[in-house]
Order: sequence, then structure tokens, then C-alpha cells
Amino acid sequence: MKQTLMTLLAGALLTLGCTGPKNVLPQDAVDGLTLKDYDPVSVFKMEEHHPAAARFSAIDLHSHAYRRDEAGIREWVKILEENNIEKVIVHTGAYGEEFDRLYDLFTGISDKFELWCGFDMTKWDQPEFPACAVAELERCHAKGAGGVGELIDKGMGERVSCKVREPGLHFNDSKFDALFEKCAELGMPVSIHSGDPIWMYEPMDGHNDGLMNAKEWQIDLSTPGILDLDEVVNAFVECVERHPNTTFIACHLININHDYARLGDILDSHPNLWIDISARHQETCVTPRATKRFYEQYQDRILFGTDNDPVPEMYRDQWRILETEDEHFYLKEQSYHWPMQGIGLSDPVLRKIYHDNAIRLLSSRKR
Ligand SMILES: [Zn+2]
Repeated sequence: MKQTLMTLLAGALLTLGCTGPKNVLPQDAVDGLTLKDYDPVSVFKMEEHHPAAARFSAIDLHSHAYRRDEAGIREWVKILEENNIEKVIVHTGAYGEEFDRLYDLFTGISDKFELWCGFDMTKWDQPEFPACAVAELERCHAKGAGGVGELIDKGMGERVSCKVREPGLHFNDSKFDALFEKCAELGMPVSIHSGDPIWMYEPMDGHNDGLMNAKEWQIDLSTPGILDLDEVVNAFVECVERHPNTTFIACHLININHDYARLGDILDSHPNLWIDISARHQETCVTPRATKRFYEQYQDRILFGTDNDPVPEMYRDQWRILETEDEHFYLKEQSYHWPMQGIGLSDPVLRKIYHDNAIRLLSSRKR
């Protein structure tokens, strides 16, 4: 009896296959689909929320000189006003004439912009390095630089201003001591990008959870002299520890949002350290509940930043992710294959992250 039923079922399935029901793809279409071509559309019928502006006046602690002509900067100011952003810190990473030119350009158009400079690393491998770089830092500060940023070490040493292709200096190198101490003396906070999201350091294979973004930013750990993610984070933390009077901002949650326990420990033991959440929503909102818990717990140490091309859509994505509890949505420009989730922060936490923490940090400077 059982066998007869199975035979009948098999016959029925075979018949269906011949007529080709609409919702069954030919097998080779699925087999041939690559992850890069996978472009799913959410089917969930749920209420969507698209805040048009930040719920509370916001300060963007992490942007760059994305516009370099008067018309472009004026347009940017308009977009900032529409989005309820009162101030933008422009990390130029520049020094010398380039810093002066950007400073005059931006501040001549709007007082919404504050310009931060870089370190002059041109003589980084020569004995006169610390003294020359400190002198240039003092000059930039006198010109109007409110802080230093963005300095970057993804494992090969600081690469922004020295443009070297061989391993450079890590931030725990004693050659940086005089510069970081000068920052403390001048009251200049320092924004440092250490590492990159963990997927960039993992093998680029079918087990890499964040492969579709990681392949764009992959870090080759076979490069001689390179530090891995743990080592580069440790080098940064050692630097923060060595300069307790200097205020540090770790960009992008020190790129360790996959390990909130470790990030929390680092914040707990270093009161001179803040973190910014710029350009990491795609990494953080994949775990919306853990992220919300972390943001609530460290609500006094987290700073808002964007770090991306300042187009209206980019700002709207910020408000949707941070303010709403929308689930399983895809952004127009997104680099991972997973869907986004709103974190849905409460009003008191939002107010601190958008605004109050930045005011506390910026107003603590001696000018
Ligand atoms: Zn940046």
C-alpha cells in the first residue's frame, strides 16, 4: 500500500515538472546564481518609517572634505539644514598649504563646518620627525584646526599623510609621543581609525560571513610587517593608555563591533576614549538587539558621525536605522548581502549620541 502511494506521488510530481509551474526555477538558474548577483527584495508587508531629518539637532563628528567648490559646499549646507544637522567636523587629514586652503574654503562659506588637520608625517623615518611634525601641528592649531583626524592604521602603520607603501609607524610607537602629548596640551581631540571590520581580515572564501563587502576592502595578512586586527587594535589601545591626558575618538567602534564585550572593556578602562559609530550601520544593525543594548550601556561615550558622501539619501538612512524599528529592509547602496534592521534608540539615548556627547567633548577643549 505504502509503495503504491509513493509511486503515485512520484508520478504526480513528474507531471508537475513537465508542465513547469511558475514558481519553480529551472535548477541551473539557482546553481548558476552568484552571491554578487543576489539582489533580494523584501516581501514583508510591514509599516515603514522614513524620518526626513534627525529627531534631535545632530553634530556629525566624522566627515571629510567631500565637496571642494563653493557651489558644492553651499548645497551641502542646504542638505544639512534639511536634515537638522547643526555642525560637521571635517577630517581633512591635511597639513601645510592644503589644510589652510580647505580651512579658508569651508569656514568662509559656513560656520557649520569645523576643520581638523592631520599629522605631517613626511619626515617620519628621519630624526627630525617629531619636532617638525609638532611645529606643524601647532601652526595648524593656530590657523584654526579644532582637532586631529582622521589618522588611519589598518595594520600597515599610519598611512594617511606619509603615503608610504612600506610598513609605517603604529600609534603605540614612541615617535608619536610628542605629537599626542602636544594634542593634550593644545586641547585637540584625535580621531583614529584602527583596523577594519573583521571580515576584511578573514580568508576570502565561502565561509566569510561578510564576503560581499570584505572582498572590496580585503586586507592581505601575508604582507610582510602587517599587523592583524587584534594586534592593530592592541597597538591603538596601548597608545590611548600611554597618553591619558589626550582625548581620543576611535572611529567606527574600533572596528570590533563583532565583540561588544571587548569594546566595553576597553571603554571601561580608558576614560579618555570615545567611539564614533560612523559608516558602520551595515555592520552593527545585523545584530540590532545587541547593538541597542551596547548603545544604551555606553550612551555617554558614543558619538554620531557619517563618514560618507553627504547626499540626502545617505542622511535619511542614518535616521531610519538609528530611530526606527523597521525590520528586514535593503538600502539602495549596500555592500553586504544581509538585510538592514532599525536599532530604534530611545529619545534620551538619541539626544546624547546625536548631540549632547559631542557638545561635552568639544566644549571641554581649551581654545
Ligand atoms: Zn572617515
